[in-house]
Amino acid sequence: FPKSSRKMTTKILTWMVAGLLLGSAINTFVYDVAWVQDYFVHGLFHITGEIFINLLKMLVVPLVTFSLITGVYGIGDIKKLGRIGIKAFILFLFTTALAITLAILVSIMIDPGKNFDLTQIEQDAFVTPEAPPLTQILIDIVPSNPVAAYAEGNMLQIIFFTILFAICLLMIGQRGRALAEGIDCLNEVLMKLVSVIMSIAPYGVFALMAKTFSIQGLGLILPIISYFGTAILVLLLHTMGTLMILLKLFGQVSLKSFLRKMWTVQVFAFSTSSSNATIPVTLRATEKRLGIDNATASFIVPFGATINMDGTAIIQGVATVFIANVYGVELGLIGYLTVIGMAVLASIGTAGVPGVGLIMLAMVFNQIGLPVEGIALIMGVDRLLDMIRTAVNVTGDAVITTIVARSENNISMQIFNDPNAGAPET
Ligand code: ASP
Repeated sequence: FPKSSRKMTTKILTWMVAGLLLGSAINTFVYDVAWVQDYFVHGLFHITGEIFINLLKMLVVPLVTFSLITGVYGIGDIKKLGRIGIKAFILFLFTTALAITLAILVSIMIDPGKNFDLTQIEQDAFVTPEAPPLTQILIDIVPSNPVAAYAEGNMLQIIFFTILFAICLLMIGQRGRALAEGIDCLNEVLMKLVSVIMSIAPYGVFALMAKTFSIQGLGLILPIISYFGTAILVLLLHTMGTLMILLKLFGQVSLKSFLRKMWTVQVFAFSTSSSNATIPVTLRATEKRLGIDNATASFIVPFGATINMDGTAIIQGVATVFIANVYGVELGLIGYLTVIGMAVLASIGTAGVPGVGLIMLAMVFNQIGLPVEGIALIMGVDRLLDMIRTAVNVTGDAVITTIVARSENNISMQIFNDPNAGAPET
């Protein structure tokens, strides 16, 4: 493993663990001390963490736009583009369905929440967030005002408009060449910016960890340890089992190399809890480190960050079985199948931002008639699970990008297998 990349990965990991430990120590020992809260938790950690997240988010919209135009222009063949899109879409749905099915099966076996004493836990009221109706999701893919879509960072709308734009750029032939070259250059500038921002990542990650864990007492896990434990188990099984089997089977690449190069992306996803904010890092890793060509990566990665959420679907499955057990509701086969269908659809319609999983859960519960207020039970640990499931979500995106790139021969295996390729600067 190359020195510079190992150094950077180790540095990010070290700072992440340091933040986690410091945060937990603050939560346990000095949580009530006003100056610790004012100057550190809501001061230094908060400011540094938010600036870091803003720096990442700052890149998402321009990077996706320029990189997608360059990508589509580079593919140069509308049929091929359609094929890549359809393959990715089918795989996204398929893996999400697999994820939630696994979650339900494992949960039924473990049966978390049986004999749960509802009185033992303090419940905050859960306010049902508003969920978009499914038909609207389809309509909303087409932006009535692209500028508004860019301003709001509406990823599906941005992807839709940008792809059409790039296709028409292709269609005007020679006249469009200069613009395409200019955009390619802009894309390179933004990629450079990602590298620059990555050099301060360790401190950003540290601040985010320290803040989250100072606020989030780990003690909250204990009363619902059966839920938490089952969720972690399925997240692990899916990532290291299902996804890796698919990658080996259909991608025929070295899993070791893949996982090593994905570490940084997973840490970013974990500390930001947002697949969307992680897009710049995922794009960089898939292109520069895994060797996937810009065309495929710039298309599938933002698409996946928006509609592919395996980790989130897993939480839906485990939470459904848990809450059904707590309230003594028999769901039956039809109930479970509805959950699977709903979770897959819901993951398409919701963006990859922190906490969105809870909104999806409310949609699912409404549909199958589980008490939505039950969500209050699991809210306390949702912040933590959000971090972990987001890391799983981005891993799924990269796995599918790799599989599709392999099937289209759009990946350089030399770069993929070269541990030194695209190593983040130290
Ligand atoms: N935070 C997740 C993501 O960005 C979504 C969720 O499960 O809440 O992928």
